[in-house]
Amino acid sequence: MSVLVVGSVALDSVETPFGKADAVIGGSGTFFSASASHLAPVQLVGVVGDDYPLAQLDALKQRGVDMAGLEQAKGESFRWRGRYRHDLNSAETLETRLGVFSHFSPKIPAQFRSAPFVFLANIDPRLQLDVLRQVQRPKLVACDTMNFWIESRRPDIVELIKHVDLITLNDGEARQLTDCANLVKAARWIMERGPKMVIIKKGEHGAFLFKGRSIFFAPAYPLEEVFDPTGAGDSFAGGFMGYLARTGDLSDANLRRAVVYGSAMGSFAVEKFSVQRLLEITPADIATRVAEFRQLVAFEEELPA
Ligand code: AMP
Repeated sequence: MSVLVVGSVALDSVETPFGKADAVIGGSGTFFSASASHLAPVQLVGVVGDDYPLAQLDALKQRGVDMAGLEQAKGESFRWRGRYRHDLNSAETLETRLGVFSHFSPKIPAQFRSAPFVFLANIDPRLQLDVLRQVQRPKLVACDTMNFWIESRRPDIVELIKHVDLITLNDGEARQLTDCANLVKAARWIMERGPKMVIIKKGEHGAFLFKGRSIFFAPAYPLEEVFDPTGAGDSFAGGFMGYLARTGDLSDANLRRAVVYGSAMGSFAVEKFSVQRLLEITPADIATRVAEFRQLVAFEEELPA
């Protein structure tokens, strides 16, 4: 089954303790597609300006990402500039230039409207709502957001979450959106307002899946070197949604497996700048990493005699 993603297709300039990248391809839609396309067919909707190095997206096309919904408009592409200091868990946004995104009105191509899985990646929540008006009863709709939108468009996010099955947020964003310091309470606050499920990501400390009263936790893969955390969240979402779309199974056991696939894909994204590592990996790399996750959390219960 296919996954439709609507998100930013950006040029990122990133500074980490290990190096700098200037105007490399990024964006929530781009990272999501690079990740999910390892598991399921992906349909991408977004906009770029006339300054975008479109040829660099060819690698995504070769991975089977359908770009029929990617518009090119007159003007500057979305640009994000961020910095990570030694705490690689939180990005400091230095600049966000919406460019062509400020006049964007997503048009979902007719052939994408019946996608069974829909991911509203991090963009203006008004655009996320607009997309929901154009799709036909998907099996699962999930969304993401970030501090930038929580600060400027909180009422739209509260409206959006009434209409989604699942939201992914990092811990800081969950606290900011709900005003609850405790993450279990924050998840509860969100589930009372629409979504049946909430995923709260805690960077190198793993991710929680909340569904009703049940809570599942997966650690983050303990990488020896995290090079650039940009895109980890979107790649997590790509692994999670891609796995669900591949299996078409929304049982509790499968949702848990999907969280592990999300964690595995997020761990690849941070090994290099931009989508570089996501474009190199093979199905065998993914299988090995998922097996390592199993090893990481496996133990045998033994009661002392
Ligand atoms: P993450 O997965 O959370 O690290 O997201 C990183 C990506 O989000 C970067 O590639 C940015 O281009 C993109 N991004 C940053 N700010 C925004 C924003 N306000 N709206 C949409 N996308 C953004």
